[in-house]
Amino acid sequence: MTFKIHCIDVKNALQNYIWLLEHESSHDVIAVDPTEADLVEQYCQEHQLNLTQIWLTHWHKDHIGGVPALIAGRNIPVYGPRDELSKIPFITHPLADEGHVEFHGLNIDIIAVPGHTLGHIVYFIDALDVLFCGDTLFAMGCGRVFEGTHQQMFSSLTSLAALPPRTKVYCTHEYTLSNAQFALQAEPHNKAIQERFEHVEAQRMLGQCTLPSTIELELETNPFIRAENTAEFQRLREMKDNF
Ligand SMILES: [Zn+2]
Repeated sequence: MTFKIHCIDVKNALQNYIWLLEHESSHDVIAVDPTEADLVEQYCQEHQLNLTQIWLTHWHKDHIGGVPALIAGRNIPVYGPRDELSKIPFITHPLADEGHVEFHGLNIDIIAVPGHTLGHIVYFIDALDVLFCGDTLFAMGCGRVFEGTHQQMFSSLTSLAALPPRTKVYCTHEYTLSNAQFALQAEPHNKAIQERFEHVEAQRMLGQCTLPSTIELELETNPFIRAENTAEFQRLREMKDNF
């Protein structure tokens, strides 16, 4: 039972990635937060993949935009946050905290992470050490607190920080370089941040994807999950909002 993760670089202004999880022997794939249908269709055709599930983390347009076209005339289950059903009416399988999804014998755990939006969920696959975390945790950063409180967002990040350190973190956006610039300012004496900044800068000069990250790397270099309490988190988040 082997699985493979593909990356579609949307190359839009928001620097989205669409992650595809493939079950290799059947070529069935799941698309995570497919913002653009055409790119997914094209990629699946080129690589002979069958789209069989869609997983959504939250209702923002740059995460769900491609879904109506992808499911039109086809029977593709759409998993997504139960608490955002009113905003994502095409969800067929609503999910809440501690829910589960199954894909070719693989168990996926759902963790609710309110803050960026109130219903935001993430998909954790223990057997593969994989986390699809939408706009909650970013490499060296985190999502903006749009709907929840800073307390909620900090507690959500804390629950992700407690996952096994080897967990690979697949976030939705390529924001690592600007996050690294902010992290340097937030923790000017942190050697790990300095090293990662240089590495990320070199990767981006070559147009490379900086993801996935790992929980271990984030614990060393992400000021938001390194914050000691909600007040410190809030101070950092507000600084970053104006960075
Ligand atoms: Zn978002």
